[in-house]
Amino acid sequence: MPSAISTTDLTKNYGDVQALDGLSLDIEQGEFFGLLGPNGAGKTTFINILVGLVSKSGGEALVFGNDVEADYREVRSRIGLAPQEFNVDRFFPVREVLLHQAGYHGINGEEARRRADEALKTVGIYDKRDSRFDWLSGGMKRRFMLARALVSEPDLLILDEPTAGVDVELRHDLWEIITDLNEDGLTVLLTTHYIEEAEQLCDEVAIMDEGQKVTVASPAELMAKGDDTVRLRLRD
Ligand code: ATP
Repeated sequence: MPSAISTTDLTKNYGDVQALDGLSLDIEQGEFFGLLGPNGAGKTTFINILVGLVSKSGGEALVFGNDVEADYREVRSRIGLAPQEFNVDRFFPVREVLLHQAGYHGINGEEARRRADEALKTVGIYDKRDSRFDWLSGGMKRRFMLARALVSEPDLLILDEPTAGVDVELRHDLWEIITDLNEDGLTVLLTTHYIEEAEQLCDEVAIMDEGQKVTVASPAELMAKGDDTVRLRLRD
């Protein structure tokens, strides 16, 4: 299976801080891939390079064979991103926000409306379509972030800690939605601090620390190792 994401010796420095230190990863199309690691491991930096929010310092990063910098538009058109923070225009009805997001991807009119409605239905908040983002509960806001990532009908879904701070019930609902999307063929890259989340969802997991890959394994292999290094490295 060809790669969805392929990086070789990827580095990123912010001044003196080395956020990524020679990261090589290969994520296959259709895979559900987890990125685990403590605060500051470099997970968000990795994502930000893939989606063109920050430039790399060195190495190579390809998404579906396209260079993330030289082929930025092609790459961006194929990624749906749900970032950690709620970077949403809070005063607009959420359906409007989705139409705007579709427009950003060059999708307008009836097609944009169809996609916005479908995304809202997929995450279970279609009945809240006229509500302002600000009026949604914390859990609905998380669902909305996922809907916004889906509206461009991406080939790769990137979720940066999508269940951070949500209760168990919603976490399980989100897991089910994301699993269904992956089973329908969407490649998923997810970052998390929760080992059980990776265990439930992922085909393969990379553990990162200090900008480097510590190990890549299936969740079952990781648990079988039961190794203190893994536990310690996942500690918040
Ligand atoms: P978390 O789990 O807390 O989200 P993370 O694994 O996503 O952490 P990053 O946010 O990628 O880690 O941060 C990696 C390192 O780079 C950290 O030391 C962080 O302080 C630093 N860093 C990230 N963004 C910047 C920035 N814009 N300027 C300077 N340093 C930064």
